[in-house]
Amino acid sequence: MNLSIKIVIALILGAITGVVLNLFAPDLFPPLDTYIFTPIGKLFINLITMLVVPIVFISIALGTAGLGDPKKLGRIGLKTIGFFLVTTTIAIVIGLGLAFVLEPGNAGTFNTDELEYSGEKAPPISETLLNIVPKNPAQAFAEANMLQIIVFAIFIGLALTMLGSKVARVKEVLEQGNEIMMYLVNLVMKFAPYGTFALLASAIGMQGVDAIKAMSLYMGVVLLALVIHAGVTYGSAIWILAKRNPLQFFKGFAPAMGVAFSTSSSNATLPVSMSVAQKNLKVPKSISSFVQPLGATINMDGTAIMQGVATVFIAQVYDVELTLTALVIIVLTAVLASIGTAGVPGVGLIMLAMVLSSVNLPVEGIALIIGIDRLLDMARTAVNITGDAACAVIVAESEERAANKVKA
Ligand code: ASP
Repeated sequence: MNLSIKIVIALILGAITGVVLNLFAPDLFPPLDTYIFTPIGKLFINLITMLVVPIVFISIALGTAGLGDPKKLGRIGLKTIGFFLVTTTIAIVIGLGLAFVLEPGNAGTFNTDELEYSGEKAPPISETLLNIVPKNPAQAFAEANMLQIIVFAIFIGLALTMLGSKVARVKEVLEQGNEIMMYLVNLVMKFAPYGTFALLASAIGMQGVDAIKAMSLYMGVVLLALVIHAGVTYGSAIWILAKRNPLQFFKGFAPAMGVAFSTSSSNATLPVSMSVAQKNLKVPKSISSFVQPLGATINMDGTAIMQGVATVFIAQVYDVELTLTALVIIVLTAVLASIGTAGVPGVGLIMLAMVLSSVNLPVEGIALIIGIDRLLDMARTAVNITGDAACAVIVAESEERAANKVKA
């Protein structure tokens, strides 16, 4: 049986196990979770996270070197960042629009009297962006600071190109390192069905059914917006810009979406999403290894959707009218907030505080959605990484067309 099918079956069985335990054997869930689900899930996440830093470094260095001409790097960089910004803006607008029409915050009564929220403080985006050049690469590696590792790797790639045959041996070592990493991704993925099963059973079993019921309209709006964005925005972009069949794109990328769904982490899913994009979607290594790590770090359309819906939801609950100016501010800050969101579980919610305070909405409102956010995090992470893969496919196709034109 192929891996995608195994992962899908594991996700379904995990969800069923979580629901059944939650409804019929709530006492059995805590020991099962402590001794079986959480350890297996953690083991899986650790196994794939173990590969992230070396893969990002090696593949970007080689990818940059593989592009050859530094001008090409600039062109691909511009296309990639342009695609990220446009799709993230579309994502927020879809989220805001649906939340205005379906009014999740006006359905039911939400008690806001004793709400408290004291999440970690969102790091200022300016700081994240200014710090992209690492003062100490070793520290960047140790802290798994993705943007810094990406920048360092690009420099190394440039040097490899410029120095050519003088450093051929270093390049060869990196190429062999890449082989080793890809072998390890395949090995670790054999464990994916067990990991995804355990992670889903744990996440779903932990949810209070009452909390889900109370928040069902909000959750429905976020999920609907995610489906529309993935299906319509990415689907049409793949169809129109890359001239490829969107269904084949989604089918080919499904294993990575399954892993993102269960781990709720774009970063941890990176080794899988890159290998799936290269193998199933035929994205050249040099493009995949540049676009996808960058996307996993700064392109979070699913997160932006959640932030859009959550902001309108909280405004509705607190009965605050959002003016047109406020909406423009929300779009701008949500783009920044999603760029600043790290690809790990739950950070999107922390960054939501920044969007809320930009339009003076009460940050305590986050306490209303925190209980069910884990479930939405799974779905939005799957969308986050699908956006990166869609971008990789589109950039690859446009580069290929440009190359063919030059040849003709
Ligand atoms: N979990 C998300 C990701 O890794 C980020 C977030 O929205 O919390 O892509």
